[in-house]
Amino acid sequence: MDDLKVFKFGGACLKDAQSITNAGTILQHFEGDKLLLVVSAVNKTTNQLEKVVNAFFSGNEEAVHMLQAIQYEHVALANDLGINDPEALNEIEDCFIDALWILEDQIQDPYDYVYDQIVALGELASSKLNYHYFKNIGIDISWLDVRDVLRTDESYRAGVVDWNITQQKSQEKIAALLLTNKVIITQGFIGSTQDNTTTTLGREGSDYTASILAYCVDAHSVHVWKDVEGIMTGDPKLYKNATLIKQLSFSEAIEMCYFGAKVLHPKTIKPIQNKNIPLFVRPFGDVMNPGTAITADQNFVYSPIVIIEENQVLVELAVKDFSFVAEHHLSEIFAILKDLKIKVYLMRNTAINFIFSTKYEEVKIAKLKSCLEDSYFINITNDLTLTTVRHADLDFARKELGMKKVFFEEQFSHTLQLLHN
Ligand code: ASP
Ligand code: MG
Repeated sequence: MDDLKVFKFGGACLKDAQSITNAGTILQHFEGDKLLLVVSAVNKTTNQLEKVVNAFFSGNEEAVHMLQAIQYEHVALANDLGINDPEALNEIEDCFIDALWILEDQIQDPYDYVYDQIVALGELASSKLNYHYFKNIGIDISWLDVRDVLRTDESYRAGVVDWNITQQKSQEKIAALLLTNKVIITQGFIGSTQDNTTTTLGREGSDYTASILAYCVDAHSVHVWKDVEGIMTGDPKLYKNATLIKQLSFSEAIEMCYFGAKVLHPKTIKPIQNKNIPLFVRPFGDVMNPGTAITADQNFVYSPIVIIEENQVLVELAVKDFSFVAEHHLSEIFAILKDLKIKVYLMRNTAINFIFSTKYEEVKIAKLKSCLEDSYFINITNDLTLTTVRHADLDFARKELGMKKVFFEEQFSHTLQLLHN
């Protein structure tokens, strides 16, 4: 379907009636084009729904009221958008019914499973609400339940995509819908198992959905609309000299996401790279501005790119028995890191030490200590920052980024990493 563009609107672009109206204007600008719209939950609904799940699991009877408040907010937003057809309003309201049933009952299922059943409603309600609004303003649109096409395994909160089935189903369904309407709206972030149980792809997963569907139907391009100008050379809140990157290769974008740039869900790039489908990160407020184009072209010269991860810890392990750190130590340590789902950012070994940095997560670090303290002396340094600099050297880093003491530094190819405070 090389004439189909995939658009993704995140929650910040759908945060209130004004921004949804703006999304409608963008669609009108593309009148006549075939579009597949992937939408996130509106505004901060996903965070609110997470709170509902947590309240339910901690026995807080407010959980039901918290969900009803979210339901009410959606209906109020529909009213603000001038949606007054009772059937349409019922459809939006009804998205929450299954979850209300779950909350009115005893806890019967594991947390991750329940989480997915409840949190997925944010995307469903958003897609219904936006569908009715876009239809009202004259967009030639149909609604697709993405769970009919996006198949995952049963890893709740981290569904693993079954590419063959997803490809086959999405091609069939999307082709059929395009026969009657030019625009299709569907949900990001969610999928379904073989038994039709809802799963999610992990937080911020809607970018990934856009890319999965684009891959599966061989789309023309993916356009991720954001409330920023495009991808910057750094987070402007942390790096004041950040500038817009107009063009980026797939591989540079993957590296940036890997090192922690919060521009796109890290799994987004690979599928579209495999099919050579360009991705544009575009400013929501300016439809004429192409933002950042991510393509296969490798011939760009980049300005320094700065990626800052705060809240890191440095873990130093020293073997107690004075043997050298060898492969068997490393495999033992990594088995524990894997079990505890601890991600290693930087690492190095010396004769008797293995040192690495990771994100500070209190419970995980405590568990790590208890698993390793029999065999290793452990020293942990908190409150560090990991700065990754691409396409620049140490002089640049020291000059541009105020750092006090550097604890660990590593350079390979175009990547310089510094752990500092
Ligand atoms: N609504 C989900 C989240 O906030 C997915 C997404 O926005 O991409 O994580
Ligand atoms: Mg969201």
